[in-house]
Amino acid sequence: MSHNPEVKMQSELAPAVQADIIADIARCIKATNSLTILTHQQPDGDAVGSSLGLRLALVKLGKQVQVACPNPVPDKYQFLPEAETILTEVSGQPQVVVAVDADNWSRLGGLEAVIQDANTTILIDHHATNAGGADLDYIDPTAAASAVQIYHLLLALDVVPDADIATCLYCGLATDTGFFTFENTTPEALWIAAELVAAGANPHQIAQQVATRLSLAAAILRGRALASLQTAADGRLVYATLTPRDFALAGADQADTEGIIDTLKSVAGAEVMVLFKADSSGCCHISLRSPSLDVARIAAQLGGGGHQAAAGAEVAGSLPTVTVKVINSIQQALNGKA
Ligand code: 5GP
Ligand code: MN
Repeated sequence: MSHNPEVKMQSELAPAVQADIIADIARCIKATNSLTILTHQQPDGDAVGSSLGLRLALVKLGKQVQVACPNPVPDKYQFLPEAETILTEVSGQPQVVVAVDADNWSRLGGLEAVIQDANTTILIDHHATNAGGADLDYIDPTAAASAVQIYHLLLALDVVPDADIATCLYCGLATDTGFFTFENTTPEALWIAAELVAAGANPHQIAQQVATRLSLAAAILRGRALASLQTAADGRLVYATLTPRDFALAGADQADTEGIIDTLKSVAGAEVMVLFKADSSGCCHISLRSPSLDVARIAAQLGGGGHQAAAGAEVAGSLPTVTVKVINSIQQALNGKA
């Protein structure tokens, strides 16, 4: 890839990159032959794209690399180069483990034990609520996506992204920024996107694959979620619920919920949006969004985490109980803010 010198100049305006920790991680990777990359359960575009982009780069360096995620890659990310290499279980006893985009260890689901058994752990994540705990913690809440951090790491490793790596990282960056419309769309996000497009990522094709197409099951599920729409706090809180029955009738699974919360954002007057997704084991996953209230704090109180404007949590209990609990805590936060 030929670097445009003007784009490079923009990079100097970006928030200070954590050069020391990135250099430490690059040193550790260079000294290692075999690495295992782990990412979070219910993987999104950043989890899949960042892990695959890092894997491809490390393979280019001649490393043996496996990537694992507790859940299979959702269909819409299967187009990513070598997506089929992502495993749902780790093979062997990995010595060097890199966790990507996981805001806490429990987000690794059944793969969490791999961390305990590893010699060296590396954490690359951009969630403000991440408390760290790896041997090498590279946590940067100013990064729009973990893909941004992987990009910086690749520069430190002297890997020039090829078209496949660029496609993976662009997918992560685009999906975590809502295709460059969310609050985290910084100058840095945009100049790295420009670099990735220059390296061969195709924004139109990636958007077509990820954002424009919806499976029939996902479309039906979205309809059921919208039909359940309710408001509280004089319309400042908008929420929708999905029961196990909704999933069954739509023929959908948890991966088909991606994007529904963004539809709730378009309701006029809404300051906080919540999507409750109940599973059949008596647990609810909640997605929270707000342009003005710190939902990462609310999610953290519920045992979850995330970013100021986009967060989530897994809450034990029946849907009605969890709904009341969450709505009360959001109402309190809104009252405090009002
Ligand atoms: P989403 O609502 O799209 O599932 O997630 C929004 C943000 O919150 C993401 O950055 C995600 O990593 C984080 N998040 C979602 N669910 C959980 C959860 O159960 N626990 C934690 N710690 N973070 C979550
Ligand atoms: Mn992310």
